[in-house]
Amino acid sequence: MKSWFAIPLWQRVIAALVLGIVVGLVWGPGAASIKIIGDVFIGFIKMLVVPLIFFSLVSGVIAIGDLRKLGSVGGRALLLFVITGQIAVWLGLLLGSVFKPGVGLDLSGIERGPIPEPKDQTWQDMVLSIIPQNPVEVMAAGNILPLIVFALLLGVGILMAGKDGDPVARVFDSGSMVMQKVTAVVMELTPFGVFALMAWVAGTQGVDALLALSKLVALNYVGCLLMIVLMYSAIVKLLAKLPVVDFFRGITDAMAVAYSTASSNATLPVTLRCTQRNLGVAPGTSSFVVSLGATVNMDGTAMYLGLATLFGAQIFGVDLSWADYGMIALLATAGSIGAAGIPGTGLVMMALVFGAVGVPLETIAFVAGVDRIMDMMRTTTNVTSDSAITVAVASMTGDIDREEMISADDV
Ligand code: ASP
Repeated sequence: MKSWFAIPLWQRVIAALVLGIVVGLVWGPGAASIKIIGDVFIGFIKMLVVPLIFFSLVSGVIAIGDLRKLGSVGGRALLLFVITGQIAVWLGLLLGSVFKPGVGLDLSGIERGPIPEPKDQTWQDMVLSIIPQNPVEVMAAGNILPLIVFALLLGVGILMAGKDGDPVARVFDSGSMVMQKVTAVVMELTPFGVFALMAWVAGTQGVDALLALSKLVALNYVGCLLMIVLMYSAIVKLLAKLPVVDFFRGITDAMAVAYSTASSNATLPVTLRCTQRNLGVAPGTSSFVVSLGATVNMDGTAMYLGLATLFGAQIFGVDLSWADYGMIALLATAGSIGAAGIPGTGLVMMALVFGAVGVPLETIAFVAGVDRIMDMMRTTTNVTSDSAITVAVASMTGDIDREEMISADDV
């Protein structure tokens, strides 16, 4: 028991991930019987999301104490979200047009999945969905964007109240500390959850569909890896001035949880913990940027949307113009703002983009069977992007403390 805890968590998590894949491959579809362990783990981390964001964001705003600084943190983060998102979509379009994953495919043997209904959402609906009309309902539904708005306003109110706000401020400070401890307890379940989820995916993934769509799946992985290795490493090195290896070691848990759960939202508590505890980002900045990023910043998904649209266009012989490419880039950005970081969001966003540029929605039915395996990589990319941008913004605003960084061996 003692020696189990002596191994750094990130090493236990990586070992569980690899072991899960091996067990799943050997066991086959029967591995689905242990998925419940993964679901229990996801249930516990989801439990953390709302109280953790709420307490740490409010106490973070109080700690930052200066509204102008808060604006500069938010502004820089949004700018980086947009820039990386645009690079991602265009990378997907580039990979799709150079390697043509939809040309010469035999799709007759593929089991078709369901096609999600494209959501008819106007920009007015989108704006309204960010307003926390009923904060209790927002928390109950776990809607992160309106929760962020409410927490920011509450923090501002406490600051404005001055001395009278002190008792409430202390409640949030202490609540934030307590939630960090609860997170630490839940994190100990990570190796078990990751193991079970990986065994389930490896054991149940249809090999036929995977082979038929291997080019698309491979390009999805290549695109995501390119962004991780080149773009985020550059952001970490140049903007955050942090050693790249330390960064990746610091966020290993978050990447592994993102990969196995395919949900940025569920990974949020882990990303928060990694950026704060392992990378030394101040709680206010990290809870603001990471929670915002989990919903609005989805580079992996954006890259995939570019790639998948070309894939669909190639299968059905649809010609896309430069104007269509521009439309894809715009919708991928707009779509990811409203979309939640949950498994399969990419499929719903595909419906939105395909409808706008005339690619048949049937494409979604073809890829649905292998979406999970691609979603896992997209989500890992999304979470890596959130973390890289968080350390970059924190470094620019002086909210990162290298002394606070837990030595990588203790992580
Ligand atoms: N599952 C991804 C996420 O949570 C979104 C997607 O489907 O691409 O970030």
